[in-house]
Formats: sequence, C-alpha cells, structure tokens
Amino acid sequence: MTIKNYINGKYQNPIENIWLDNYNPSNGEIYGQIPNSSKADVENAYKAAKSAFTQWSQTTFEERSRILIKISELLEANLQRFAEAESKDNGKPVSLAKAVDIPRAASNFRFFGNAITQFASESHESVGQQAINYTLRQPIGVVGCISPWNLPLYLFTWKIAPAIAAGNCVVAKPSEVTAMTAYLLGEICNEAGLPKGVLNIVHGLGTTTGQAIVEHPEIKAISFTGGTATGAHIARVAAPMFKKLSLELGGKNPNLIFADCDYDNMLETTVRSSFANQGQICLCGSRIFVETSIYEKFKTDFVNKVKALKVGHPSETETNIGALVSKSHLEKVKQYIDIAKAENGKILCGGNSVVVKGYENGYYLEPTVIEVPNNECRVNQEEIFGPVVTIMPFKTEKEALEMANKVKYGLSATLWTNHLKRTMQLSNQLQVGIVWVNTWMMRDLRTPFGGVKASGVGREGGFEALRFFTEAKNVCIKY
Ligand code: NAD
Repeated sequence: MTIKNYINGKYQNPIENIWLDNYNPSNGEIYGQIPNSSKADVENAYKAAKSAFTQWSQTTFEERSRILIKISELLEANLQRFAEAESKDNGKPVSLAKAVDIPRAASNFRFFGNAITQFASESHESVGQQAINYTLRQPIGVVGCISPWNLPLYLFTWKIAPAIAAGNCVVAKPSEVTAMTAYLLGEICNEAGLPKGVLNIVHGLGTTTGQAIVEHPEIKAISFTGGTATGAHIARVAAPMFKKLSLELGGKNPNLIFADCDYDNMLETTVRSSFANQGQICLCGSRIFVETSIYEKFKTDFVNKVKALKVGHPSETETNIGALVSKSHLEKVKQYIDIAKAENGKILCGGNSVVVKGYENGYYLEPTVIEVPNNECRVNQEEIFGPVVTIMPFKTEKEALEMANKVKYGLSATLWTNHLKRTMQLSNQLQVGIVWVNTWMMRDLRTPFGGVKASGVGREGGFEALRFFTEAKNVCIKY
C-alpha cells in the first residue's frame, strides 16, 4: 500500500521520492510506504492552501457547515473501512476504533460544522462617548495542524475541523507512524465537495516534514498535539515568528480514590482509565492513589480484574488489549518496568511481553500494575504512555492532593468520592486542565480541553478552538 500526500485536492508522490516503511503493530510486518515529505512538498501544500484561502474565507458559514457535516456523514458511512485501517496502523482493537475513534472523528466535523453557525462576536456600546465597538473574528489564513499516533484520526480531525470551519486553509501532518486514515480522509473530503486546497495533508517525519511546517514563515498558527519535548521544541522554533500556538502535550494523570466512593463503578472505570487503547491515551490515569482503609481490598480486586483482561490480536472481538504502536515504543515501556524494579517497585501483575499465536512478531505487552514505594520514583513522575499503572496508598486528603500535584504535568485528574466538600475543594486545588469526578473521559465537545504546566498551553474544544483559529479585531465607530 502506498500512501501519498493530498495537495490541492489530488494525491501526489513526494517531490524527492523518499519513502518510509509503515509497520503493522499486530504482526510486526511492513505493509506500506509513506512519503517523507520535504520542504518543497510543504511549500506546495502551502501554495495550494494560500490560493484556496481567498475564496474559502469568503464562503458563507452555511456552506462551510454543510460541507463539514457531509464529511461527517461520509466518515460514518465508511465506519468499518476506517476502523479496520486505524487498527491495522495503530494496533488498537478494531472494536475500539469502531466504537470510539472513527465516530469521534465524524463528531468532530459535525460538531464544528454546527458550532460555526453559532459562533458570535461581541459588541460594546461606549455609553457617553457616542461610539460603538464590535469584534470581528477573522480567519488567520494558512494554519498548520500536527497530530500524534495514539488517537490518529480522532485528534487529526479535532484540529482540522475547527480550522476549516473558521475559514482557514490547512497544511496538516499526521504522525508518520499512523498515516493511513489521514490518507483516506482526502477521498472523503473530495466526495463531500471540500474545495481543493482548503485541506492539504503532507506525510513524513517530524524532524523533516513537521519541522518544515513549523518553520514556514507564512503558516501563521500551529495547533500541535504530541510529546512535551516536541512541544517545547516547536515553541522555540515558532517564537521568533510570533506564531499563534496551541500545544496539547503529555500527562501523568492522578486518580484519587477515597473510601466513600461508589466502589464498583470506580473499580470498573479505573480498569478502563488505566488500560484503554493499551494505556496510550494522554488522559489515562497512570498514577493511582488509594485511601489507606480500602487500599488492600482495592489492590486485590484491581489486580484480579487486570489479570482477566485479554491481550490479543486487534481484530478478535474478545481482545481487550491490542498491540502497542511500535517496536521502539514497546521497548521504551518495558524499560520503565525495569526502572520500577530497580527503584523497589513491586510488580503486582504483568510486566512481560505476550506472544500471540499466529502473530508472534507483534508488539504485545501484559497490562502491568506496579506498587510503588513513593511518589518521587521515576515511574510516578515520567510519562510511560503504555499499559502500565502505579498504585500507592494515602492517609489524608492533604497528602493525596500534594502527591497528585507533585509532578511536572497537569493534564487531567480523576476523583472518586461522594463527599461534596472534598469534591469542590480538590477540584479547585488540583493543578490540571480537566477534573473528572466519579467518571473518566466523559467528553462534551463544547467544553474547554487542555492542560497546565508541562501538559501544554491553550485550550481546544467548543468556541475555544474557533477562537484559536481566528484573530479578534476590534472596530470602534464614533457616531
Ligand atoms: P511526538 O511529539 O513524537 O509526535 C507528535 C507529532 O509531532 C508527530 O506528527 C510527529 O511527527 C511531529 N513532530 C515530531 N517532531 C517534530 C518537529 N521537530 N517539528 C514538528 N513536528 C514534529 O508525540 P507522539 O509520540 O506521536 O505522541 C505521544 C505523545 O502525545 C504523548 O506524550 C501524549 O501524552 C501526547 N498526547 C497528548 C494529547 C493531549 O491532548 N494533551 C493527546 C494525545 C497525545
């Protein structure tokens, strides 16, 4: 399978004809080639976007909305095909891609197709001065969108949909590890009648293609989701050009479990928040803190449930945990299990690779629970981004809060309690962008999404995303 760039509404080979191998994580085999696009390809994508901008930015919001909703419908009509492609590229169970990833990508287009019709600007009458101020919300022009491999189409479209809804034209790059569904999206956009050049997709490595997008002086805003180190690098490159930046970065999210919670719901959800998508979600609760009085019970029940999870081929319906995304990522995650042992962590279950019959070269790992001696150890401080969680007890609410906040990241936190005052206090004091109370990853697309500290800068979601992808201009009229 040969994946090509999608520029000006057409599939194209990379100018320098350099290709990368694309692996299927479920069996370790190469099944395709993707372009490693150069600066020249990014320049072509930019030129196509620039020439589409004049017309697209003047297209009525009803028409933009109609096209976005049509893309959404076509994604839904192609659910099975997209879900299988996502699973083959990423290693996630097909069932998960079918239930979550692809429906969410479709929702992204539908949501922003509707949101743009409701996106209003402000006006202020300057009473006593005979003047009125109003705010124009103008599209920025050509914007860059760069996304990671863990939720490939889901996060790619979470950026593209608001960008084009707001009247921008886009140069976008999906992760080089999971380019397939972004490639298929081009066809859908053509079928939906998206004018050529409004969306351009270039494939390749971050250090070549991604870097060329960030360095391009006329690409005025970058929406990036990925690792914290990459985000810091992008911020350094973009700063001298005063680009607008939205950075959605890593996480090391705490779960605070209090004895007064609804235990069964907590247990079930904590298994999911630990291991969904092989633990490769920036929002996974990777540090579990449990109140002492229920710690031993939780430990036994949680480990029993985790041991019952089935690691298997992503296409099999009974599979709970598919393959990790790549061989190098599997090695990185396994190294953290060794680090935990060296730091006196106790492996309560898992910790080993799994050989799946018939797919012996796939990248499978047992879901792993580590009891850690303290919150300072590396496995409690560094993002592992795999099917590995840590657990440890806490005595007081104050201690739980301190441990939750004592980390460089600040993306999300999950709180399990039925105590109102505690809920209110901790929600105020947790240093994160998102707090879930008695649930996990319940998403309403109207809400602001993003992190604090090393988890990022800026917010996506709802009107926050439309604000990011527009420039506010104040007009003051004296009458
Ligand atoms: P990554 O930072 O390695 O890559 C992300 C994207 O950036 C890829 O498309 C990559 O090619 C590109 N890139 C890499 N170097 C670049 C450069 N110099 N210039 C421009 N682009 C460059 O991240 P990853 O390994 O693909 O994804 C995993 C990370 O993403 C984890 O840290 C995870 O927490 C984070 N993540 C965050 C969120 C969030 O919403 N906060 C969501 C999902 C994933």
